[in-house]
Amino acid sequence: MRSTKARRDILNIFQNEDVPLSADYIYELLNGEYDKSTIYRNLKNFEKNGKLRSIVFSDKITYFYKGSGHFHFIYCVRCKKFERFNLCYSETISKFITDTLGYEVLGHTLYFEGICKNCQEEMKK
Ligand SMILES: [Zn+2]
Ligand SMILES: [Zn+2]
Repeated sequence: MRSTKARRDILNIFQNEDVPLSADYIYELLNGEYDKSTIYRNLKNFEKNGKLRSIVFSDKITYFYKGSGHFHFIYCVRCKKFERFNLCYSETISKFITDTLGYEVLGHTLYFEGICKNCQEEMKK
């Protein structure tokens, strides 16, 4: 069935990408095989059943990414690329949340916005 294939194709993309992806990007990656609303609906469903998470940046684009645990992203507001990094200071914050608010912390997402090296070079020209 076509809808099953769409689901599988979209999930496959996330097997190989560990950075957040927009619906538009996935649309292009799949060469327009599915229309954007199909892709968006599938992404929303994956989010609902916990396969994917989403974040929205200041440019109002929704990005989807997979998994659980901790995520640290730096986002270039100019070329809209992400990179992941691993440095983490969350122990202190997690302990604070557990001790003062009583939550069991399951994970966190930390993201920064900035301008990447490439874009900085481009802007000098
Ligand atoms: Zn950039
Ligand atoms: Zn972390």
